Amino acid sequence: MFDSLIRFVRDQYRTNEFIPLHAPVFRGRERQLVLDTIDSTFVSSVGAYVDRFEKDMAVFTGSPRAVAVMNGTAALHVALKLAEVGAGDLVVTQPLTFVATCNAIAYCGAEPLFVDVDRHTLGLSPTALESWLSAHALIDDHGDCRTRVGHRRIRACLPMHTFGHPVELDALIDVCERWKLVLIEDAAESLGSYYKGRHTGTFGRIGVLSFNGNKIMTTGGGGMVLSDEDIGKRAKHLTTTAKIPHPYEFFHDEVGYNYRLPNLNAALGCAQLEQLPAFVESKRTLAQRYIAFFQGSDLQPIVEPQHCRSNYWLNGVICESPAQRDALLNATNDAGVMTRPIWTLMTRLPAHARALSGPLDNALWLEARVVNLPSGVLPV
Ligand SMILES: *Cc1c(COP(=O)(O)O)cnc(C)c1O
Repeated sequence: MFDSLIRFVRDQYRTNEFIPLHAPVFRGRERQLVLDTIDSTFVSSVGAYVDRFEKDMAVFTGSPRAVAVMNGTAALHVALKLAEVGAGDLVVTQPLTFVATCNAIAYCGAEPLFVDVDRHTLGLSPTALESWLSAHALIDDHGDCRTRVGHRRIRACLPMHTFGHPVELDALIDVCERWKLVLIEDAAESLGSYYKGRHTGTFGRIGVLSFNGNKIMTTGGGGMVLSDEDIGKRAKHLTTTAKIPHPYEFFHDEVGYNYRLPNLNAALGCAQLEQLPAFVESKRTLAQRYIAFFQGSDLQPIVEPQHCRSNYWLNGVICESPAQRDALLNATNDAGVMTRPIWTLMTRLPAHARALSGPLDNALWLEARVVNLPSGVLPV
């Protein structure tokens, strides 16, 4: 039943071997720059590639400042810390995300507050957020947003640009401003994605990128904090053990983290970033082919939202029914073409099963139907 899809994917990747969901591609100066760090001996916490990677990424995204860290989860943790999310606070997020989003909230001693996603973006719904807040929240005398019952502070809003498709940022920014929530974007999946011409991760007070091996470009493991100059300075300080610069003394003025990205990884990142525009083009071409392939079928491809240019990090389809989803997953994986369901909702995980939550109709609907298809950069 899914034979033509399997053949179609094999034609794209021109192989009869196993096809992964997303494999990294090293076609540029990766070997040269990584070897350069080895020859120089500067493979660790000191070296020129970290500075260069940060500057290049700031230019690419249009962010005033970019601070490299060892992975996207660490970047999220630091972003929440810099937004002054503390013990007992609530952070609004979506139930349909990778677990790292919620792990970072938990690291701060805070808890997620789940609101539904939109079906067309797969990301946090501004209308669902507004309706939850109108029914359950108030602004207190200090200008903090709090739950009416229990008086818990809702400090921040952490939407995630699912599979590279931007959430409805204009509307979300408006809700966050009126309810005094600090907007932090989990842009781990959306490097190379734009909303109304501006790069994702640069709309909130802080944005977070990931360069894990399965992302659109990789440093092996890595992440980035995007922000203005002041917050960027704080991010650098906090992620490099909070050391006060001095020729030889060791003075640390707060509890810092050793979250820095090694120079070795940054070198890989510099080489990958040189190819990022080509990667995005390749993925957008593949997405157009998937969309054409599914025309007139009962599987509905996920397409970029209006006013957006998506990196199409992962392509996906919405199945007609959960039964069809299972059949698709079984047929493709049995044939050596890797496909995966979307994540289990965060509200089903033991750590977050008792978290506050609004109605999650869209998230539940999508959870039962979305399948991701092979989406790696195409062979040349
Ligand atoms: C990949 C990813 C992260 C960060 O993951 P790391 O592996 O820690 O770099 C965070 N959030 C989402 C939604 C992701 O997909």
